[in-house]
Amino acid sequence: MFVYADNAATTKMSKAAINAMMPAFEEYYANPSSLHSTGQAAAEKLFNARQSIAQNLNAEAREIYFTSGGSEADNQAILTAAILGKRKGKTHIVSTAFEHHAVLHTLKKLEKEGFEITLLDVHENGILTADEVQDAIRENTCLVTIMFANNEIGTIQPISEIGTVCKEKGVLFHTDAVQAAGHIKIDVKKMNIDMLSLSAHKFHGPKGAGALYCRKGILLQNLIEGGAQERGKRAGTENLPAILGMAQAFDDACRDIDKNAEYLTALRNRLIDGLSKIPHSVLNGDKNNRLPGNVNMCFEGIEGESLLLLLDMKGIQASSGSACTSGSLDPSHVLLAIGLPHEVAHGSLRLSLSEENTMDEVEYIISTVPEIVEYLRNMSPVWEALTKGEIEHVI
Ligand SMILES: *Cc1c(COP(=O)(O)O)cnc(C)c1O
Repeated sequence: MFVYADNAATTKMSKAAINAMMPAFEEYYANPSSLHSTGQAAAEKLFNARQSIAQNLNAEAREIYFTSGGSEADNQAILTAAILGKRKGKTHIVSTAFEHHAVLHTLKKLEKEGFEITLLDVHENGILTADEVQDAIRENTCLVTIMFANNEIGTIQPISEIGTVCKEKGVLFHTDAVQAAGHIKIDVKKMNIDMLSLSAHKFHGPKGAGALYCRKGILLQNLIEGGAQERGKRAGTENLPAILGMAQAFDDACRDIDKNAEYLTALRNRLIDGLSKIPHSVLNGDKNNRLPGNVNMCFEGIEGESLLLLLDMKGIQASSGSACTSGSLDPSHVLLAIGLPHEVAHGSLRLSLSEENTMDEVEYIISTVPEIVEYLRNMSPVWEALTKGEIEHVI
């Protein structure tokens, strides 16, 4: 059996999204900035896509800026708040220790430029509270940036409450909603979100396309200079094919959001129950307040990497931590942030499901993982020491 369970890393494109892209290659290929009629036809398609994405977020079309993906949107949002803040002498930023590296590395860069960064700890359940955010905000705070849903453990933050706190305190609030968009309902107005990042390839759209919602009234700062595209805030000929694919995929995902969540939650819960029977295993992150398709577990005494390779041989495509950190032997910063010890954080397995997965596939995973865990434990010196009582079990 072949099972693709790595949808948090990226998703397969939907047929509808592919079909939405094709005319942009063959028919609407003109530059949307061109004044002739084919250019204007492309410009109209571009506007429709912007409007569609805006509507699905309860935003206005002019508040949507197309980018090359989630990373760019994160960078632009954070740098915008930093530049605007600095002009007013505000150089403090509040975030969390378990953000995506697109956020964390941008904050690191700002720290070198003299900004002060507070990275809040998340609790064992992977969720922080709006009160903790409130307490961290100072006189000179220019930005709160907190992800909507975590890409490794899937936990969902109280975004609405955090939005309210930021609004009351007069601090800009950005959320990296790359994992949430298309999977959880988002209303930027109701949730008091000032800036929000999303990425097409996390909801069955194409790679290399994303969007930044930036509330009107915030003076967005450029990362890329050179042209009048995106209201002058992001230069470069628009990637119309990918933008059309993204708009289609987002519209489909938002239309079916309840149905998909219900379907995925059933698969996810079955998977969690099945894998939790493995002795000395733990589910990372809150059991219920997590993305409908996310399962992340640790199995004591084994390396995540070996587990992944053996699962691959059985046709199961999964991930350990995030795709971006694999290849390094460092344990996931997310698992460390929720308080797992180093040795346990090494043995993590992330299974991220999409609507294309089936209950049969889930049963296949449930029957395959325990065998592999046992096999690996039988050759693990750490496991041997654990069973002999030379070291103590942590989970
Ligand atoms: C995937 C991801 C990103 C990066 O998005 P790209 O479009 O791949 O640049 C940022 N944040 C989170 C939470 C993600 O999951």
